Amino acid sequence: MKNNIEKKFREIPTPFYYYDLDVLNETCRKVKEESEKSDFSIHYAVKANANPRILGIIESYGFGADCVSYNEIERALQCGFSPKDIVFAGVGKTDREIESALKARISCFNCESIAEIEVIDSIAGRLEMNATIALRINPYIEAHTHKYITTGIAESKFGISTWELKDVLERIATLGNVTLDGIHFHIGSQITLMSVFKSLCSRVNELQEWFSSQNIDLKSINLGGGLGIDYNNPDRAPDFDEYFSLIRELIRIRPGQKIHLEPGRSIVAQCGSLITKVLYIKKGSNTTFAVVDAGMTDLIRPALYQAHHEIQNLSSDGKTAKYDVVGPICESSDTFAKFIELPETSRGDILAIRSAGAYGEIMASRYNLRDLPGAVFSDEL
Ligand SMILES: *Cc1c(COP(=O)(O)O)cnc(C)c1O
Repeated sequence: MKNNIEKKFREIPTPFYYYDLDVLNETCRKVKEESEKSDFSIHYAVKANANPRILGIIESYGFGADCVSYNEIERALQCGFSPKDIVFAGVGKTDREIESALKARISCFNCESIAEIEVIDSIAGRLEMNATIALRINPYIEAHTHKYITTGIAESKFGISTWELKDVLERIATLGNVTLDGIHFHIGSQITLMSVFKSLCSRVNELQEWFSSQNIDLKSINLGGGLGIDYNNPDRAPDFDEYFSLIRELIRIRPGQKIHLEPGRSIVAQCGSLITKVLYIKKGSNTTFAVVDAGMTDLIRPALYQAHHEIQNLSSDGKTAKYDVVGPICESSDTFAKFIELPETSRGDILAIRSAGAYGEIMASRYNLRDLPGAVFSDEL
């Protein structure tokens, strides 16, 4: 991060999220270029960051939106996404959400159980509408990521099991108000091993054979999101080349079919940093604490997923020492980093907690009745 920015940061009340729009635009350009090579359709996963400014930029690249609540759908619509480019996922859609989404004429419900499909069918029937659905299938693939963000293994609550698919198809055949469009997968998040996506592609190819054997034509194959970023190198772009070319090579597409992808983190993570001020330096028995004014209420990833974020002291370039960077919240898990090397740090220094654009601002809470963090964009400075 540029060091001359520190002076500008000093004039803004901390903590706040800083979004570098050049990075966001560069990332979107790259994803657009890669997706156009193979005519893949991109639905950005809104839950990673639903800041209206960020959504507006993402929409301007022609991407659609993957939403997991009706409020996300509403936000996406407000930010300019067209209903025909919005898909609705989630294991627990409420009746009210389903009704609102139908009325908004979104393009597809990604369904996770027979029970849900029956409810969608009955609500669509009452509204004299037809719902386009896709089946989210649990492919039983270990994503090799944190257990809280692994979603495609046997014990996951997500998706329909393959042993149940025959029953699901039989049930759908009896329902008059739903149309099956395709199949959907999302096996987890922060996936950094390309072999995981390779396994997913082979599994999808096998499942396609099975659907063909049942005389079902699938128009869309949605591989979900999950591409990880390098949290150790905040200025490094995600491996979009490798990811997209792997899918292009391995997925066997049939005539008339479209591949859908739902990247969330990989689009927004690197453009955001949480900017915080050092309140106190405090000697512990075997460490030095840098107590900062941001806490787990502003960025919960370290506390929730033991996530690593690079931290930079933008105010100091002195001799380095070891610090634990901790927040003010009354929880011991409110720690951003333990025993990390920083230039000599003092009260008033400005720190940047990097790669915080995804699952950062959007997961902020008001625990301890704290204020929510602000958002500042690079073109405002
Ligand atoms: C969360 C989610 C995504 C995005 O995952 P990332 O790891 O952020 O890319 C995509 N699809 C679905 C259904 C999701 O729930």
